[in-house]
Amino acid sequence: MLLSFKMTYSRYLSLLLLPVILMGGLPFTSKVKEGFVEERRQPERRLPDRLKPVLPGYIGGLKASLHDGLKPVLPVLPEHNFQFPISNFQFPPSFIHHSSFIIHHSSWGFFAHKRINRLAVLTLPPEMMVFFKKNIDYLADHAVDPDMRRYSTKQEGPRHFIDLDQYGTFPFDNLPRGWLEALAKHTDIWIVGVRGDTVMLVDSRDSMPAAKWKPYKNWFAHAVLPRFYDDNALLDTDSLFACFSKLNGMEERPAAAFYQEHLSEHGVLPWNLQRFQRNLTEAFRKRDGRRILRLSAEIGHYIGDAHVPLHTCSNYNGQKTNQHGIHGFWESRIPELFADETYDYLVGKPEYVERTDDWFWNHIFDSHTMVDSVLDIERQLRKTFPTDRQMCPDMRQGILGIHPCREFAAAYQDALDGMVERRMRAAIHAVGSAWYTAWVDAGQPDLSKMDTGPVSKEEQEEEKNMQKAYQQGKIIGRTEDH
Ligand SMILES: [Zn+2]
Repeated sequence: MLLSFKMTYSRYLSLLLLPVILMGGLPFTSKVKEGFVEERRQPERRLPDRLKPVLPGYIGGLKASLHDGLKPVLPVLPEHNFQFPISNFQFPPSFIHHSSFIIHHSSWGFFAHKRINRLAVLTLPPEMMVFFKKNIDYLADHAVDPDMRRYSTKQEGPRHFIDLDQYGTFPFDNLPRGWLEALAKHTDIWIVGVRGDTVMLVDSRDSMPAAKWKPYKNWFAHAVLPRFYDDNALLDTDSLFACFSKLNGMEERPAAAFYQEHLSEHGVLPWNLQRFQRNLTEAFRKRDGRRILRLSAEIGHYIGDAHVPLHTCSNYNGQKTNQHGIHGFWESRIPELFADETYDYLVGKPEYVERTDDWFWNHIFDSHTMVDSVLDIERQLRKTFPTDRQMCPDMRQGILGIHPCREFAAAYQDALDGMVERRMRAAIHAVGSAWYTAWVDAGQPDLSKMDTGPVSKEEQEEEKNMQKAYQQGKIIGRTEDH
């Protein structure tokens, strides 16, 4: 994608930029019912078209008995192509005509994610520093792995965000803070009867009577929860029949059953953070140096994402308010231009966090309170700032593109009253605190002789596949910004 962009438009770009280059070059600065079906009923909820493909060969001989293409699937999130706002910058007409002008961003930008992990190391106590400092390059370099994985793994995308506005307003009563509760509440259960009819057994939009909720959740915990990361959404019909014959008098064991969860559609960032924190603590307990490093690098990434306001709402790239591109403007462009020049990176010692599950949620709620400012202030500024000085040609990650001009970015940063710097500092402190808390919870193991050991074959293979998919530049799920 990026390559073809470069090839196709290089001619226009060189024409466009020729005068600038001749004049001394560009400033390449970078860049869940009453709801139980008492009887079989036809589903009101249809699987949307975008959920239909996938999972080749998933259900074998039962395929034919499913309604029109209905298949048990894991979510395939909608694609959004990022259209950079070029309204204020005049390209030759043919350029605009031919160009979809897609730019792949990463959350916080690769730059800021790497910086956050690197600086988080410097917050640590000496007992941890001895190991983390030695591996600071690894921790910084691999801060971006979760974003790279979005190109090779379809489950990856939802881990980077949560659209809180989809759950109403604070305190989001319909949004359980624990993973099991949340997933059980936002998952439909479908069955295929012995005569081949497909019926929704549990509709997540209905509320379930309290007396049924507990036994249902117990069944869910062992029947559905462990399947979440499988590519196959089929459920064991024996255990389902055992549960539902008691719950709502189901008389026949269905021929097949599967689930469809709706949590991923709006992102699973908070629960993903909780999982990573548990896994990191476990890695410290097992003195597994290599795993400690990998999980530390990656939780650093997700904590960074949790500090970005636009990672907590469905209007994540200003697409609903005609502010396309604001995601990258706030979290990539501004830090790349100003962070190392002007930000105060001293954030103090890490804190020990008693209840990390709630703590992660609070960071996300904090971010969410800033969404309106991020959007409103930019909208206002766009109206008052000279339009011909808002967008400029510039190089970013080796690609020439049109980005907010330095002066315009500075004006946005000022109007935000230092919000980007504050969130970056908060992210650095939170990453240090999460690492520190995992180490303390694991009993403060001695890290001074910790060995990272050789990279396993599987890890090498995973890395290779990730790099390859990344080079091909096709994100699975939402593009660019999450
Ligand atoms: Zn991310």
